[in-house]
Amino acid sequence: MAYTADLHLHSPFAYACSKNLTLENVSARAKAKGIDLLATADFTHPKWRQELRAKLTPRGDSLFSFKGIDFLLGTEVSCVYPQDGQSRRVHLLVFVPDFATVDRLAENLAQSGAKLESDGRPTLKMSARDFTQMALDINSETVIIPAHVWTPWYGVFGTKSGFDSLEECFLDMTPQIHAIESGLSSDPAMIWPIDELSDKTIVSFSDAHSPAKLGRELTVFQGELSYQGFVDALANQRVEFTVEFYPEEGKYHYSGHRKCGVRQTPEETRSQGNRCPVCGRPLTLGVLHRVASRYTLSEMENHNTGATNAIGFVESGQGRPPFIRLVPLLELIADSLGRGAATKGVVTQYNRLVQELGSEINVLISAGLDVLEKVAEENLAQAILNARMSNVSVEPGFDGVYGKVHANP
Ligand SMILES: [Zn+2]
Ligand SMILES: [Zn+2]
Repeated sequence: MAYTADLHLHSPFAYACSKNLTLENVSARAKAKGIDLLATADFTHPKWRQELRAKLTPRGDSLFSFKGIDFLLGTEVSCVYPQDGQSRRVHLLVFVPDFATVDRLAENLAQSGAKLESDGRPTLKMSARDFTQMALDINSETVIIPAHVWTPWYGVFGTKSGFDSLEECFLDMTPQIHAIESGLSSDPAMIWPIDELSDKTIVSFSDAHSPAKLGRELTVFQGELSYQGFVDALANQRVEFTVEFYPEEGKYHYSGHRKCGVRQTPEETRSQGNRCPVCGRPLTLGVLHRVASRYTLSEMENHNTGATNAIGFVESGQGRPPFIRLVPLLELIADSLGRGAATKGVVTQYNRLVQELGSEINVLISAGLDVLEKVAEENLAQAILNARMSNVSVEPGFDGVYGKVHANP
């Protein structure tokens, strides 16, 4: 069996996140998307934890349910600490099987000085390695996944405050890390050539800061839908496929300076010494630059960017799980109507399409052109197909500016 999961999102109690991220709203959005399993998010926040405890029904297999959607106890923490004379900032996703573990984890973090009530994604003055050991000592079934690993800030491989390898960050705890989150600005094909990560499961989630962003990236896991099934899937790369943003759409894909209007490919950046041609200061190096700098010569030679099959999936040819690049349906509708994604006409059409075809994932991945043309205008039906088959033009994101993908015929 297979199930669709989005396990990186936030609650109303996380910094800079929407007050609309209630359990009611995220469950309704998950249903429309076609998501089976969500993370609760932010479980160390005292008020949010109270609400989770009151509203979630235990399923008896270390998962919980609410209004037809299943939930996994999960959160994100921000480790900020010095190592080897540099300031490090690493975000980690954390999953546990029960509230007793949540309570003990929260207690230990509070004792170490973390202000759990001020941010659902707490800042810890603790190394990623020490946090991992602490969490595993509390419960050996705890799962730790480095989040959005390439982002310049807060990614374990980030140029601003990250490391050159997992080993350098997690030291003796490295074998406990079975999976990494690719993040919006990268996709699995950019990770496949890296030897150190060849046995890691690559997962993709939305990192939604508002309900509308839920499920923009997803992972379809194979195996049993249970906590143990999830742990086994991560340990063995049992992933049916991941749904990816076009990585160019992420806000740190290329290098550049937002204020100077400078956007560069890795080749341009390298030839100009990583400095901005306008202001002369160091550029914010994008994910593409960072990933390219990680490949060794032999990895470059074996560089496997995958091949797109007849239904839009990119296959590695070396047994890694495939993925598909998609554009969110709200964006495709908004573009086809020439209006904003949050406007009434766009939302009405979104709801109608999803109702008629079952879920957004069905619309974006499975429905054939004949089916799409029955429920949507011809140009929207073609745009959905174009997005699925990578027939798109892109303006890459850089230095905090989202990129743009054009799928319209
Ligand atoms: Zn994060
Ligand atoms: Zn500049």
